[in-house]
Amino acid sequence: MDFMLEGRVAAVAAASKGLGKGVARELAAEGAKVAICSRSLERISLAAREISDATGAEVLPVAADVSTRAGCDAFIAQTIERFGRLDILVTNAGGPPTGAVDSFSDEQWQAALDLNLLSTIRLIYAALPHIRQSDQGRIIAITSISAKQPLPNLTLSNTTRAGVLGFIKSLANELGHTGVTFNAVLPGWTRTERVEELVNSLAEAQNRTPEEVIAGITASIPARRMGEVEEFAAVVAFLASGRASYLNGVALQIDGGRSQSLL
Ligand code: NAD
Repeated sequence: MDFMLEGRVAAVAAASKGLGKGVARELAAEGAKVAICSRSLERISLAAREISDATGAEVLPVAADVSTRAGCDAFIAQTIERFGRLDILVTNAGGPPTGAVDSFSDEQWQAALDLNLLSTIRLIYAALPHIRQSDQGRIIAITSISAKQPLPNLTLSNTTRAGVLGFIKSLANELGHTGVTFNAVLPGWTRTERVEELVNSLAEAQNRTPEEVIAGITASIPARRMGEVEEFAAVVAFLASGRASYLNGVALQIDGGRSQSLL
């Protein structure tokens, strides 16, 4: 299947490692020019070099903090400055801290809203005027399965990510007529560095081996394993493709069947 991504321009936020980097690499491998950002210029430049060496694609690294309005605006502005157009935006950010449901301060709520809800809104607002000019406009928000099925100890994630789904659905409803599509992807357990660190720290705290921790996690996943970054990135690349032109307003979990939501 031709994904019709050759020559398209994509901006992928929070992409020096993990899911964002995997998505950027997949889009680059399909022929897109890609802008990527993270807070550290050194780390994002390394990732850009790695992706362009592997795929031959043009990759622009940008240092930008997506938890701020200025960072979101700068990322999109530099993408337009370099490539002159934008077809695809993939929003992403780091995850918020864990904690008991009644333990968070006002400052922690504000930081989580900035990082996981307002970053999505601000990136989309900055990108939309450019993406509306494309004949293959695609906006894809990376959230979490916690948006459909709240997870214990993850109240900040459960709450902010559900807000992202409301925003994406509103955009799909009100701007679907423009031809731009708006969708959300909800990763379940996917093997990134962040997840490996989390498994190691759980193992230490619970006096178990990392393998035992992973076995406990995967027991609740029908696929009985964690996902790989490449499996996640392939679905996002399809949503970004010219072939996904009638897919609008979905919240698609990529989780090996873990989420028990029927919708
Ligand atoms: P990761 O820690 O491996 O990568 C996060 C990326 O975001 C890094 O490149 C980091 O530099 C960048 N980043 C963090 N804060 C940023 C900021 N303020 N501005 C710009 N860049 C920033 O994480 P990941 O596993 O790839 O997860 C990505 C997102 O998906 C997170 O929000 C995470 O909570 C969510 N998620 C991940 C999984 C999973 O299993 N991997 C599951 C559900 C949800």
